[in-house]
Amino acid sequence: MARGKRRRGVAKREYEELDVSRLRLSIPHTEQKRGGEFQVQQTMGSNAEEGKTWVCPVCVVVIEPGIVHTVAWDIHRGVQSRRHFHNHCWKLFDGILP
Ligand SMILES: [Zn+2]
Repeated sequence: MARGKRRRGVAKREYEELDVSRLRLSIPHTEQKRGGEFQVQQTMGSNAEEGKTWVCPVCVVVIEPGIVHTVAWDIHRGVQSRRHFHNHCWKLFDGILP
């Protein structure tokens, strides 16, 4: 990062350099459900190993790779309790992780 080269009215450039593909996904946040408090974020699963899939705990249907979906975990149980949900299933989810 060469700071000196950015001085000529190009401050906006900082924003343009953000990874635009990430902006379509929601910002990680917490949500209250009946079962507790969850850390929630959306993912396309693009960091996962190839061929990796997840089974949504709500509808018990596989989430195909490349589908934007919701990852959530109980903040009290920690990230190991995370599950992958279809976006619409997350909305239906009552907060009790299987
Ligand atoms: Zn589902």
